[in-house]
Amino acid sequence: MSYTLINPATEAPMETIEHLSVEATDEAIARAKVAQKKWAALAPADRAMALRRFAAAVDADVENLAQLEVRNSGHPISQARWEANHVRNVLEYYSGSPERLMGKQIPVPGGIDVTFNEPIGVVGIITPWNFPMTIASWGFAPALAAGNAVVLKPAEWTPLTSIRLGELALASGLPEGLFQVLPGKGSVVGNRFITNPNVGKVVFTGSTAVGKQIMRGAADQIKRITLELGGKSANIVFNDADVAKAAATAPYSVFENSGQDCCARSRILVQRSAMDAFMEGFETAVKGVKVGDPLLESTEMGPLVSKAHLESVEKYLDGANVLFRGSAPSGPGYWFAPTVVLANGVNDRCFTEEIFGPIVTVHAFEDEAEAIEIANATEFGLSGSIWTREIGRGIRVARAVESGNLSVNSHSSVRFWTPFGGFKQSGLGRELGPDAPLHFTEEKNVFIPAD
Ligand code: NDP
Repeated sequence: MSYTLINPATEAPMETIEHLSVEATDEAIARAKVAQKKWAALAPADRAMALRRFAAAVDADVENLAQLEVRNSGHPISQARWEANHVRNVLEYYSGSPERLMGKQIPVPGGIDVTFNEPIGVVGIITPWNFPMTIASWGFAPALAAGNAVVLKPAEWTPLTSIRLGELALASGLPEGLFQVLPGKGSVVGNRFITNPNVGKVVFTGSTAVGKQIMRGAADQIKRITLELGGKSANIVFNDADVAKAAATAPYSVFENSGQDCCARSRILVQRSAMDAFMEGFETAVKGVKVGDPLLESTEMGPLVSKAHLESVEKYLDGANVLFRGSAPSGPGYWFAPTVVLANGVNDRCFTEEIFGPIVTVHAFEDEAEAIEIANATEFGLSGSIWTREIGRGIRVARAVESGNLSVNSHSSVRFWTPFGGFKQSGLGRELGPDAPLHFTEEKNVFIPAD
């Protein structure tokens, strides 16, 4: 089985990627199991040094990785460079972890009691196509730091940067079998991570529908899982906010990566008395988003990832109340102009479903209580923004919105040194932040008597 990649900005066919079978996946997992034992037995400082060398290899390859992501995923080059640098930063950050997995010494009568953070073993990581290399690094860097081996299945459409990271890991001196990238179908390679008993934990990022399947499958072996799933996040603008700034920045909170972002603030809630002022500034800002050739430094938004995905996004415009649109190139490529829709009530599917494209839906609210009620009227809970000049309101609303990652008077993106993850059906567990390596360990308690 194989898959021919398509450049989403030109529709030109590119490399053909061979897909692994179930048998080849099992062989890779068996190699990982052997490599993990040796890796975990290394001195923590030696594991840390190996990860620093991996980070240095990524650093030397940033431009190449960025160019690969432009061709494979259509990300604007400036964004793709940020992503490649982010992978290096994540590796550097977690290369500080091996010597810091310290466990605890707990007071007990008659002896001492200590805890150890033991590696889980082999960790399977399944990634989506929207941010292929960054999301992969959120799993593999802390997992390796905690003494595990990693098998990584990239999305079928966007495997190139993951494959390159696998090569860089080996070239930097990481042991054979410790970090393997296994291109293939989710139903074959990804599913085998769930069913093969030698995989101790699965980290899945993708749709909520597949996340539920993973959770069901993991139950058979009580397999550890982390799930990072969908979102339908709210950008709440109060009438006491810097409305001009909220309007000018709103496009970049939802149209970045062409809206193919689980953190996209795809529902804008505006206090009714501020609606006219907000929409005036927002229209100017949306029409100013630079959509085009991802290789140009000035480009802010590229194409959608594939024809199939473009068709799925286009369907949302059937019957939608479109207010205005930005621009997009014509000709080859999976282009879709930034689009602003007025919600036909809170049950409008543009307002409730994760479109994962550059469509944002606007809805008015009367007061703080209604803003919170509408923001929480979703099965998702991943991110969100709150715009207000009143500090107390910023705090109250941030505490009341059922979501894992909020920012006040800003649209903060992911920071690798702070935790990231979702409430409700946006996921299970957290990635990133100082505790991430702990999520790739089992806590062991040992009592030693003093007599
Ligand atoms: P999918 O859930 O379809 O796929 C994600 C990954 O899972 C892919 O590698 C896919 O492989 C694999 N997969 C598919 N079916 C199975 C299966 N039965 N068992 C194991 N693995 C499987 O999502 P998309 O890739 O289409 O990504 C878009 C979705 O992901 C959006 O809905 C978005 O909300 C969500 N997402 C969430 C993020 C978060 O952090 N919360 C971040 C990014 C995306 P294959 O490519 O072969 O289909």
